[in-house]
Amino acid sequence: MHIDNRYAALCDQLGEPRFFHRQRPEPLTAPQAVHFNQPLAERLNWSWTQPAEWVPILSGETVPTGFDPLAMAYAGHQFGYWAGQLGDGRGLLLAQLRDQQNKLQDLHLKGAGRTPYSRGGDGRAVLRSSIREYLAGQALFHLGVPTSQALGIVSSTTPVQRETLEQGAMVLRVSDCHVRLGHFEWISAFAPQLLAPFTEAMQQLYFPETCQAEQPVLAFAEAVMLAQVRLVARWQVVGFAHGVLNTDNLNITGSTLDFGPYGFIERFNPEWINNHSDENGRYTYGRQPSVVQWNVAVWMGNLMALGVAAADLRALISRYESELTAAYLAGMAPRFGLVAPEQADLTWIGAYLDLLQQAQLDYHNSFRLLTDDPDRWLAQFENSALRAQAADWLKTWQARIQGTEAQAVDLMARHNPYYVLRNHMAQTAIEQAERGNYDEVARLFDLLAQPFTWQPERHRPADLAPLAADAPACAVSCSS
Ligand code: AMP
Ligand code: MG
Repeated sequence: MHIDNRYAALCDQLGEPRFFHRQRPEPLTAPQAVHFNQPLAERLNWSWTQPAEWVPILSGETVPTGFDPLAMAYAGHQFGYWAGQLGDGRGLLLAQLRDQQNKLQDLHLKGAGRTPYSRGGDGRAVLRSSIREYLAGQALFHLGVPTSQALGIVSSTTPVQRETLEQGAMVLRVSDCHVRLGHFEWISAFAPQLLAPFTEAMQQLYFPETCQAEQPVLAFAEAVMLAQVRLVARWQVVGFAHGVLNTDNLNITGSTLDFGPYGFIERFNPEWINNHSDENGRYTYGRQPSVVQWNVAVWMGNLMALGVAAADLRALISRYESELTAAYLAGMAPRFGLVAPEQADLTWIGAYLDLLQQAQLDYHNSFRLLTDDPDRWLAQFENSALRAQAADWLKTWQARIQGTEAQAVDLMARHNPYYVLRNHMAQTAIEQAERGNYDEVARLFDLLAQPFTWQPERHRPADLAPLAADAPACAVSCSS
C-alpha cells in the first residue's frame, strides 16, 4: 500500500488553521461488517481484507500507521443561495493512497463523528443512507460513470436520530478527489490569500497539463468545466438524477460524490423530482445540465481574483452547452447502435425520448427491448396513435443503422443495461439490513457489477419490473 497524503501536506504548507482540522474518528459501538468491496481493495493494494482487520478501521476504532485523518472545511451554494461554511461536519479524509495505476485516491470516512464544522449536527451517518451510497457507487461505476465508490460499510448499535431513531453506520468512500467547487468558495470568502497557492497545487495534482498553458488558470477553469460536462453527460445518458447538485457536492475532477436523494429514472419523465426537499424542482433529471453549468459559472467567478479576465471566462462558459451536447451524443450513440453519430441524430433521439415520456415507459427496459427485440419494444405502446408514431420512429432508426446492423446490436448489448439500482431494490436491501440481514446488499452488489449480463440465477423479477403505472413518483428523503 502506497500512502501519499498530499492534502494534509498542502494544508500544513498553507498554514491556515481554519481550513482543516486534524482529529481521530469517534468510534461506533458494537460495529458489524455489512459488506466489503474486494475488487476495489485490490485496485488500492489495500492491506486489510479480513473483517477482523477492516472493521476496526471502518468503524473508527483503529487508525493505521501513516494515515493522517482530518476534516476539510468547505463552503457552497445550496439550492442557488450562498450558504457560507457548511462542510465537513461528519467526514474525515483518513489518508490518500496511490492505486495500482499510481493514481491518487482519497479515503474518506463518512459518519466519523463531530468535527469543528458540524454546526450542531451529530457527525453521524445512518445505515440507510450508507447502503444507498454503497450500492449507487457500485451501479454507476459499472455503467461507466465517473464516481466515488466505497470500500466497505459497517453498521453499529450507535443510535442516530433522524425522522426516526436509526442505526449509525460508517462508509469508507474512495474518490479520486474530495476537493469540491465549494473549497474555492471557502477560500475566497474566508482566506483569499490562499487562493493562488491552493489553485496552483490543485492544478499540479489533478490537471498538471494546465500548468504549461499560456494562461494556466484559464486552462484549469476549462479542464474543470470539461470534467463536469463529461460527468453530467454520463448521468443524462444512463438516466441518473443526483438530487442535490449544490456547489459543495461537485468535486473538481468530475466524479459523482455525495449520494443523497438520488434516483435512477424509471418511467421517463425529465421533470420528476426525486429529492423530497426540492420543492421547486431545481435538481430534476432534466435540469441537471443547466444547474451544473450554473455551479461552474459561480465557481469560475472565484478565479477572477487570480487575474483571469471576465470576458475569457464568459467565452469559456458559453462553450458549455455545445460541449455537453457533443458528450451527450457520444454517450447516447452506442445505446442506439450508432457507429458514427452526427449532430442531426439528436432529432430522432429526442423523438424517442418524447415517445417514452408520452407512453410513460421505463427508460432502461425500453433501451434493452430495442436491443433484444424491436417488435416487443413497439408492442409496449398500448395507445394506437402512439404506436403508429413509434412504428414510424422505428423505421427511421432502422434506416439509420442499415448496413451496420450486426455492429449496432453488439454496441447496444454492451451499452444498454438489464440492471440498474431502482429505488425499491435499495429499499429492500435497507429494510433487511436494518433487521441484521446483509444478504440483499451482497446480492445487489454482485448483480450491479455486471449490468449488461443477463443473470437469471441472481436476479429477482422485481429487479426488472418497471414502476407500476399508478405508483406515485418516488421522492427520497434528504436526511442521511
Ligand atoms: P450534504 O447535504 O449531505 O451534502 O451535507 C452538507 C454538509 O453538511 C456536509 O459537508 C456535511 O458534512 C454536513 N452534514 C450533513 N449531515 C451532518 C451531520 N449529521 N452532522 C454534521 N454535519 C453534517
Ligand atoms: Mg455534501
